[in-house]
Amino acid sequence: MSSQRSAIEAWRSAPRTALPVLRELVIHGPQSRTDLARRLGLSSGSLTRLTKPLVAAGLVVERDVRHDPVNGRPTRPLEVVADRLLFLGLKLTSDRVYAVLTTLRAEIVARESAPLTAPSPGEVVAEAGRLADRLTAAGGAPVAAGVTFGGDATAPALVEESELVDSGILGWQRVPIRRLLADRLGVPCFVKNDVAALADSYQWFGEARGVRDFALVTVGDGVGYALFTHGRAVRMTEADLGEFSHQILDPGGPMCPAGHRGCAASYVTTRSILMTAAQGMRRFPTYREVLRLAAAGDPVCREAVRQAAWALGVMIANVVNATTVKTVILAGEAVDVARVRRADLDAGLAARRRDVAGIDVAVRAHDFHDWARGAAVVAIRAHVADAA
Ligand SMILES: [Zn+2]
Repeated sequence: MSSQRSAIEAWRSAPRTALPVLRELVIHGPQSRTDLARRLGLSSGSLTRLTKPLVAAGLVVERDVRHDPVNGRPTRPLEVVADRLLFLGLKLTSDRVYAVLTTLRAEIVARESAPLTAPSPGEVVAEAGRLADRLTAAGGAPVAAGVTFGGDATAPALVEESELVDSGILGWQRVPIRRLLADRLGVPCFVKNDVAALADSYQWFGEARGVRDFALVTVGDGVGYALFTHGRAVRMTEADLGEFSHQILDPGGPMCPAGHRGCAASYVTTRSILMTAAQGMRRFPTYREVLRLAAAGDPVCREAVRQAAWALGVMIANVVNATTVKTVILAGEAVDVARVRRADLDAGLAARRRDVAGIDVAVRAHDFHDWARGAAVVAIRAHVADAA
């Protein structure tokens, strides 16, 4: 505990001019002074001056000597001390809470999850508190927590006035979740939309590190979308996201629950994939079963998976055509369709985009704890930005 407190104190008292150095080391990991100076556009003299107090304060350490691959000179890479500060990430779904404890560099130290009988604010706070206690016992106490869920967690008017949030998925209206969780956990809490937080985590600690322009598309219970241009997240409203989810891909396609024929949601949500398979199977399968039967050559399940993968390809083409970003990350519960039927995704992409050269589609393996890590990154970014 006292080591954590002194680490926070050290962060708070770090010279402001040295904060870009800390931020760079948090995001990009250990690196030589030469690389660091080049990235930050500093002379080696300035860099040495900036890093000295950071090393003295124990925020940054020098690693063992290694030899520069270019000029062969000995160098001692600098590394931010990441494991003295821990962050809690909580991802809420309608039936489960996922929790992780991470270091300052978003490395997962411990993970837990627990079912919810109903996602009422009271039950969520109680369960999140129990998970936080277990993680603290396993890995240490966090200095801050991030919590994410599907819903508009960042509507400015709400946040500024009373911090009340809405979530259709959780059935919440005007819930002061940040304050409730901060009271229970005893640390500062930060609330964010789950897809936006996941995109933030990939920008700092994942596939999109160093990529200024990228999009994230998530598929599961619903369709999620986040877009970064020039290194910044484009702000989207619930209405914008609704339009993205229900863009028409094929006017002759299946029907979504909102009554659109052939919209994105009618193809790529878990429910849509199951509905398409159920029509041919005359019973309601599980998602895993559909994937397994499709892989085994079952024509009905294979067609349901093919359609979803094709639709994802079309959605990617639409994103690239409209925004010019060339890096698209796919994530979420239903993302396996893109892995098992990659050729169909490519066919959908090629159907709506002539020049597919240079388009990088990264399919992230599904794991709910990845979303909880995204929540922890909300707290990490707040910590680093706070210092900056
Ligand atoms: Zn629709």
